[in-house]
Amino acid sequence: MDAFDDFDIQTLAIRAGYDQTPEQENSEAIFPTSSFRYESAAQAAARFSGAEKGNVYSRFTNPTVRAFENRLAALEGAEACVATASGMSAILSTFMALCQAGDHVISSQSIFGTTKVLFSKYLAKFGVEISFVSQTDFSEWQAAIRPNTRALFLETPSNPLTEVADLQAISALAKDNDCLLVVDNCFCTPMLQRPLEQGADIVIHSATKFLDGQGRAVGGAVLGSSELVGEEVRGFLRTCGPSMSPFNAWIFLKGLETLPIRMKAHCENAIELARWLSKHPNVEQVFYPGLESHPQYDLAQKQQSAGGGLVSFKVKGGKEQAWTVIDHTRMMSITANLGDVKTLITHPATTTHSRVEPEQRLKAGITDNLIRISVGLESIDDIKNDLMIGLDKL
Ligand SMILES: *Cc1c(COP(=O)(O)O)cnc(C)c1O
Repeated sequence: MDAFDDFDIQTLAIRAGYDQTPEQENSEAIFPTSSFRYESAAQAAARFSGAEKGNVYSRFTNPTVRAFENRLAALEGAEACVATASGMSAILSTFMALCQAGDHVISSQSIFGTTKVLFSKYLAKFGVEISFVSQTDFSEWQAAIRPNTRALFLETPSNPLTEVADLQAISALAKDNDCLLVVDNCFCTPMLQRPLEQGADIVIHSATKFLDGQGRAVGGAVLGSSELVGEEVRGFLRTCGPSMSPFNAWIFLKGLETLPIRMKAHCENAIELARWLSKHPNVEQVFYPGLESHPQYDLAQKQQSAGGGLVSFKVKGGKEQAWTVIDHTRMMSITANLGDVKTLITHPATTTHSRVEPEQRLKAGITDNLIRISVGLESIDDIKNDLMIGLDKL
């Protein structure tokens, strides 16, 4: 396989990671096979022992899945990538592979609701202690470090309030204390932010979101060094089996080809929508890292190349007013997903964050008047008009 080392990231998204088969196909092939045939008993034995590299069984070695892994690794600048059945299984696999009972994990409190449940309900059940700290207050991260802290976890920008965490400061803290920094890079994708270059040890993706980009399949990925990800996380996947199917890998592989151009277009629509919402009289506050009014605007400018595709805002009023805006849209999809060419609208308090205790939810700033928009690639005028119907009624 050509490493394409000297190519631009936009080219890597289209060209990296795939070995053409003897059929000379131009578009990547799908290999829907559970197992592989060997030339001899000796070759089978060599594959199983690892003495000979190659395919063994599609739970942990499949050519289509590997092509997706290689291509995403090229984009994130990672030595190794392991594809998983979902974003949640990417997070689970990482912590099951790298932590053990007695370890302590520090997580930003501003993370995806389901990830919070994974940490506080399931990791805790296996003796891994978890502390939640402020995404943006570095002193809380410092104060939470213990001798047994194994890993720090965050998403930046956060969901749904787009708080930006300081990757360089937090990765330096992790290094000083011999622990790992794990970053969920779902919102930015490698097109806007490459956490490994900024000191993170592991990057996690929900491929379900922008990597696919068209809302077709559920998948995830873990990226990092050959040692941590190539050996440890892959070992977990091989044994425990939360693997990506070849069909889904193919969808994501083809999704990566348009990732650079899609992310650019998402960001262009999002900044325009954020600016427009900021001026609407019935909007109380807009959350978007590309807005000069964002509290971490300078930090976002430093570590991301653009603001991303997610815009959240608070309407004047409460749940009733938020629901009025949502229910008056004609075009947008009312759904909790994100990262689609279709614009998606969500009421976080009663959907994505409904399993979080009300008190915790308020502490995290997820109020009843908050709406999250995953800005799609429809005409920006149609997107604005769709929100205007309800907003003008308040
Ligand atoms: C959706 C999401 C996940 C979980 O991914 P799934 O593919 O739905 O399992 C994790 N982190 C973030 C930031 C997400 O948005």
